[in-house]
Amino acid sequence: MTDRIDTAPPAPPAPPHPCRICGAATEEFLDLGRQPLSDAFPARTPVADEFFYRLRVARCTACTMVQLVDEVPRERMFHEDYPYYSSGSAVMREHFARTAGGFLASELARDGAFAVEIGCNDGVMLRTVGEAGVRHLGFEPSRKVAEVARAAGVRVRGDFFEEATAADVRRAEGPADVIYAANTICHIPYLESVFRGVDALLAPDGVFVFEDPYFGDVVEKTSFDQIYDEHFYLFTARSVHALAERFGFELVDVRRLPVHGGEIRYTLARPGTRRPSPAVGELLAHEEERRLAAPDTLRGFADAVAAVRDDLLALLTRLRDEGRTVVAYGATAKSATVANYCGIGPDLVSFVCDTTPAKQGRLTPGTHIPVRPAEAFADPYPDCALLFAWNHADEIMAKETGFREAGGRWIRYVPEVRVD
Ligand SMILES: [Zn+2]
Repeated sequence: MTDRIDTAPPAPPAPPHPCRICGAATEEFLDLGRQPLSDAFPARTPVADEFFYRLRVARCTACTMVQLVDEVPRERMFHEDYPYYSSGSAVMREHFARTAGGFLASELARDGAFAVEIGCNDGVMLRTVGEAGVRHLGFEPSRKVAEVARAAGVRVRGDFFEEATAADVRRAEGPADVIYAANTICHIPYLESVFRGVDALLAPDGVFVFEDPYFGDVVEKTSFDQIYDEHFYLFTARSVHALAERFGFELVDVRRLPVHGGEIRYTLARPGTRRPSPAVGELLAHEEERRLAAPDTLRGFADAVAAVRDDLLALLTRLRDEGRTVVAYGATAKSATVANYCGIGPDLVSFVCDTTPAKQGRLTPGTHIPVRPAEAFADPYPDCALLFAWNHADEIMAKETGFREAGGRWIRYVPEVRVD
């Protein structure tokens, strides 16, 4: 038997990761470490076979698109048990009812109009369209949420939206006047196929409307928890403008939305079919002025992220050492990034309460903090509550007035760590 000594030189550094949109070189500016799937809640401990990946973020040196370096296979995220239900929040239900109302009063007002939604989830938007008697179809590959949509009378196709499936719908049902997507387009690395699908399905004068978290808000609020496996892209007006152009469309409107911690609704149309609103030029100029895509801005953002981690971990460690009880509020996908990046486990936070039955009785991804029903929060109230669902703060504060009255304190970390 011979001893084998590996004398091979270390592998050369990997070449720069090419941009998923335009193929140009990218530059990494943030590393959030080893992360689990943000919506995979293990059933019990010890947890076997948990999937981890490295959460690194880069910016394209040409089209400026902010994107993840590593891609998680889509079937690992959007599957039968995908536990996010868009109807879970009253604010979001109202937001989508308003969105549907806007379409019904404009693009969908004519006879025979047809609306398609990419990632319709539990049908929270299309329900209103269907109730108005308007033709519609939602694409939703996550089976259980799709079943909820169907039960509400929404027509659902259980596929991913891509060139082949969209062309199929066009053949069978004709062109769509509106193709809409909420918190979906930023989830999809293979956007070229999605745009080919939009091109195949959209009527000549139709609109492709999508809304996703705004990278400008992420930087401004240091809300790095917007970065997780499902959010493959973090859009800006500039990067979406370039994206639209690259795939044969034109960005004709942008609208800031106060939901999910700050989003933008982008409206795209075929070039020359609609006059772009002044808001597009204004936002592009504003991003240029604040140097949103500049390397020094991104370095500053990465420094601010590290400071939040250090402050939050120091605070939670001090509270534990003082014998205070701390629980977390909202087992959100976002919170997986925070908990895993900062190293917040059951030693610092006793449990997380959440209203989603599919998460209750399970453990948080990666850090394995038990998830309990919302009622556990008041039984008895903890000394402090870490507000993971900070984007629903107003709704939660209105619901949990008893906690403050009992002397409880909220811990927040957006835009910086504070107790109030
Ligand atoms: Zn690019």
